[in-house]
Amino acid sequence: MPKQSPVADDLDRPFWDACNAERLVIQHCNACGRFQHPPQPVCDSCGSAAQLVWREVSGRGTIYSYGVVYDTPISALQGDQPYNVAVIELADAPGINMMSHLPGTPVDEVPIGAPVTLIFEVTPGNGQKVPEWRVAR
Ligand SMILES: [Zn+2]
Repeated sequence: MPKQSPVADDLDRPFWDACNAERLVIQHCNACGRFQHPPQPVCDSCGSAAQLVWREVSGRGTIYSYGVVYDTPISALQGDQPYNVAVIELADAPGINMMSHLPGTPVDEVPIGAPVTLIFEVTPGNGQKVPEWRVAR
């Protein structure tokens, strides 16, 4: 489904640039050992700015839960309703969940707990790639 194009700013540009290179990076605080997403100027836990780094992760994960959207206010997505919105738990970034439409998975047939693999989709507005996940077969 065609999606809105994110527009990077100074804070999240490393995340979006990595997506364009088909890599997933998550902010990691080397002071307290925590991942955080979305990106913040300082660590939400300990306040460190100097110890925040971008760490590449595999994107492997599992489906924690999901919902089905029947009535989105986002006009660009209304033609694709209803659609899945799944919560993905990343295997190598503890505590980080990301959302996916699970392309290829029929609406409301989402296998909770199933392993997923990372893909990237090009958004039509500006060509920015965004992370998505597919159920691993
Ligand atoms: Zn910290």
